[in-house]
Amino acid sequence: MQFDLHTHSTASDGRLAPAELVARAAQAGVEVLALTDHDGIDGLSEAHQSAQNAGISFINGIELSVTWNSRTIHIVGLNFSPDYAPLQSGIQYLRDFRQQRAQEIAKKLELAGISGAYAGAQAFSSGNMLGRMHFANFLVSAGHAKNIRSVFKKFLVSNKPGHVSGAWASLDDAVAWITGAGGIAVIAHPARYKLTRTKLRRLIKDFVAAGGQAIEVLSGRHNINEIKTMACHANDFDLYASAGSDFHDPDFPWIKLGKLAELPASCKPVWDLF
Ligand code: AMP
Ligand code: MN
Ligand code: MN
Ligand code: MN
Repeated sequence: MQFDLHTHSTASDGRLAPAELVARAAQAGVEVLALTDHDGIDGLSEAHQSAQNAGISFINGIELSVTWNSRTIHIVGLNFSPDYAPLQSGIQYLRDFRQQRAQEIAKKLELAGISGAYAGAQAFSSGNMLGRMHFANFLVSAGHAKNIRSVFKKFLVSNKPGHVSGAWASLDDAVAWITGAGGIAVIAHPARYKLTRTKLRRLIKDFVAAGGQAIEVLSGRHNINEIKTMACHANDFDLYASAGSDFHDPDFPWIKLGKLAELPASCKPVWDLF
C-alpha cells in the first residue's frame, strides 16, 4: 500500500484545495492519505468526501505547532475524532496566537521598510489561517526575494527582520488534545529541528512521557541517512513509524506527493494502529 500521512491544503499553507489535493494524491498512486494542515481541521470534511469519490482511504490529520524548550516543534495528529472539545479549543488558541503573530510580523516588516505585508499575506491565504508561507509568497511577489527558499532565510527565521518567536502549545497539551480525541500523536520531520542527537532523544523522551506513540521515519524532508537514524530512534523508544511527504505545492519540485521509500524492515508501521 502507498501511504502519505503528512500533506497540506489551502486550509493552511498549501496551494491546492482539499479536493484538488486528494485528486492529485489518488493520481499519484496514494492509497491512504492524511490531510495534516497546520493548527486546523477545516479541510477534513471536503478531503474526506473527495477521497470517497476517488476510492482512496482518508485519515483525519492535523499538524500542531508546539513550543518545546524555546524551540518550535511540529506534532502531527492522525486518526482522531475532530469533535473533541479540548482539541477544538486548543486549535482556537493556536489560531489566535497565529493571528497576533501575523500582525507582529507585519509590524516588524514595516519597520524594515516593507509596507502592506499583512494585507499582502492575506491575499495568499484562502482559509482563515495566516502563516509564514503566506508572508513568504507576498515578499517574493513584491520582489523582496527571488524564491520561497531564499525569502525564509532573508526575512522569516531567527534574527531576521520578519521573525517573531513562538508561544505555541506545550508538548504535553498538544499530545493530550490528539490522544484525548482518540488519535495518534507523531513527531513530524524529526531531522529538521537542528537538534543534537542528545536533544532529539530528550524531545522523544518527553514526547513518550506525554503519551506520544509515533515518529516520522519517512518524510519528504528526510534523506536516506536521516531515515536510517530515525528508524533507530523509533526502535530504541519502541515508537511506531510514520510516512508523510509534507507536500505543500505542486510547484515545489523537491517534495512530491506520495513518493516515499519503503519503511525500513525494523519499523512498526503507524498504520497498524488505524
Ligand atoms: P508557520 O507555522 O507559520 O511558522 O510556518 C511554517 C511553515 O513555513 C512550514 O510548514 C513550511 O511550510 C514553511 N517553511 C518554514 N521554513 C521554510 C523554509 N526554510 N523554506 C520553505 N518553507 C519553509
Ligand atoms: Mn507549512
Ligand atoms: Mn512541519
Ligand atoms: Mn507539514
